[in-house]
Formats: sequence, structure tokens, C-alpha cells
Amino acid sequence: MPTAWRTLAEIAGGGERALGRISAAVNAARRRAWAAAATRHGALPGIRIADKVLEGVTGIRLDASVVTCHSDKEGAEPNFKGFGLHPLGAWCDNTTEPLSGMLRPGSAGSNTAADHITVLDAAIEALPPPHRRRLMVTCDGAGASHDLITRLDKLAARPGYQVIYSVGWELGQREKAALAKVPGQAWQIAVDERGEVRERRADGACGDLRCAHRECWIEEAHVTELTGLLREGPAGDQLAGWPALMRVFARRERPHPGAQLTLFEAEDGWRYSLWVTNLPAHLRGWRANPAYIDAAHRVHARVEDAIRTGKDTGIGRFPPESMAMNEAWFSAALIAATLLAWLRLLALDDRLARAEPKTLRYRILHAAARLVRGGRRRRLKIQATWPWAAAIVAAWERISALPQAP
Ligand SMILES: [Zn+2]
Repeated sequence: MPTAWRTLAEIAGGGERALGRISAAVNAARRRAWAAAATRHGALPGIRIADKVLEGVTGIRLDASVVTCHSDKEGAEPNFKGFGLHPLGAWCDNTTEPLSGMLRPGSAGSNTAADHITVLDAAIEALPPPHRRRLMVTCDGAGASHDLITRLDKLAARPGYQVIYSVGWELGQREKAALAKVPGQAWQIAVDERGEVRERRADGACGDLRCAHRECWIEEAHVTELTGLLREGPAGDQLAGWPALMRVFARRERPHPGAQLTLFEAEDGWRYSLWVTNLPAHLRGWRANPAYIDAAHRVHARVEDAIRTGKDTGIGRFPPESMAMNEAWFSAALIAATLLAWLRLLALDDRLARAEPKTLRYRILHAAARLVRGGRRRRLKIQATWPWAAAIVAAWERISALPQAP
């Protein structure tokens, strides 16, 4: 631990320059790792959208999460969720690895445009150049800011590049007025991560669990597009000043029992979330289906998992006291998460290729094994009785066979 601490102190002492050099080194390694992944699997994994897979597109997900701290750390400030630090990260949906991150004080806003733009630009720079041409950028939370949308719109307008964005949008007065005008049949049922409609059995439904009685089923979530109501209503274009290609979508869900509702939601009986996207309106096929436009904005199961399990790689804990030391810690934790993603992508199979950090730590990282040098070769010595010995040997052989770094 003292060695690790000294390393962190060195990084912290080097400031922005040290962090920049670390990012550059990781990004250079990523070019080789992704090339090797494409060789191994034929292509980089696609982006999973409900039961579909979008191939050939790189997904970047911006996510701000509050990390609660109990001690009096520098930068640990009260925020809307409690007390702590407020890191912002960009995650690759294809590989679940972090691409860039920014450690912010607890009081940082969840939608601060300048921070989002900095992290987004760093994430694009982190991508190997062949994977920058077709991007899908998503950002959760409500309150798409003008600056972030303008930046995304500019990125999307570059010739030779395609950027589809999907960013959370605030539910304001004009949106509430539009929602009130949506006819019932314009709400389409939402799909879950398996592509199945989200509905459940009603209380007092009949005994036949597969029945087709309308009254026996409760549809739990719906999607609709509000662009027409907001752009072409009697009040004129209420989105003037926003990019012309920007479309607004809304999802409504049955609130969970006990959920905190706004007055509007309590009166209305639904909980709403809105987002904007530049997905072209002329698109055909499953991507044009509002249920899948919703799924593309929302279902990032792998990235959500990466953020959740990131807590096991140190992303969700900040032991040091000073902000500079915590920045160094954050940078190291992001590298740990990146290396685990590459291990899965390049060297593991089946269930281990989908295993969470905790599982990998027990089965692989903490296995009793040694690397021994004999002559010019390095050899892996591992107890044959370890249940994952064969998987570890196979992984070691795959890693050893990768082209050496220059
Ligand atoms: Zn029935």
C-alpha cells in the first residue's frame, strides 16, 4: 500500500500535466487493445439496444454520479443527493470501459455544460481514430443545456462523421402543456431490455396467465414524440433557437409505490422523463420505432453495470483527503476498470468474459499463480486444482500472443 500511495502522490504532484500524459498513454494502448479485440471477435462489440444490436457505431455515455464521503475531504461539499464528490465520466457502451472522467467537488451541478463538453471531447479523443466516425452519445439526467446540444450538433454536422445524440430534457411548462395534448393512441408501449413490451398482470386479473383480456393487463410504460406539438402547434415553433433537427421524446411510467412525485405527476398519475435526439426523422426500421428510440436513450445495461461495479475498482470510493490525491486515485481507478474491460474482451470466454470485477478478482486476479522466468521465456505457474486454472492459462496464452508494444 505505501508504494501505491507514493505513486498516487507522484501523480498528484505532477498535476494536470501528469494526468494528461497518463491519458495519452492509456489512449495509445487502447488503439492496440481495440485492434486486437477486432481481430479476435471480427469487430468491436456492437451497442445493445433492447434485444437489438447496433453494429459499427461507438457509444459514449456521459454519467455524473455522486459519491458520498463522510470525512471532511477537500471538495466534498453538499449537493442535491447528500455530501461528497461528484465525478463525471464518459463510458464506452461497446466495451464498458471508461474513456474519460473528471473529478468534481460535490457542489458541481449534474448538468454543468462546460464539464460535460470537456469530458465528451476527451472521450472522443480517447477513441482510436477508426472508431470516431459513427458515434452515439447519450447523457442521462434532465436539463439538456444549450451549450452541450450546440456542441453535439456541431460534431454531428462535420462532413464524414455521424453523431447521433440523446440527452435528457427538462419537463417545463411548455412540455407539460404539450403532454396534455397527446392523444391516448399516440402513446406507444415501451419495451424492456429483452425487447418485450412492459406490462404486468392487473390486480384481479383472470386465472389464465396468458389471456388476451384487455382489462387483465396493465401497460407500465409508454413513449411518444412531442416534436410536432412543440414545433408546429398554435403557439408557433417553441423550440426556435435549438437545432432544427432536434426532436423531443417523452416516456411515461407508472410510478413505483412510494415514489416521490411532483405535483404534476401526482395529479396526472404518470411519471415522465423527456429527452432530445437528432436521430433523423426519415430513418426506417427498428431504430425509427419510438420504443427503440427510448431504449437507445435508456437501456445501457452494460454501462450501468460498469458504473455500479466500478465501485469495486475504486471509482466509487475516495480514501485520500486532498483533491489532487483524489484526482490521482480517480485516474488510477479508471485505468483499473479499463484493464478489466480489456481482459474480458481480449482474453476471457463465456461467463468470465461477462464477469463483474468482484468475480474476476476472486477467480483470476487473486489466484495463487506465479510468473517465472526460465531462459528467455516467462512461464505461468498455477495450481492445477484451481477451478479456473485452464481459463487463466488460456487467457495468459492469448495475452502473450498479442503483438508486442513498440
Ligand atoms: Zn384475463
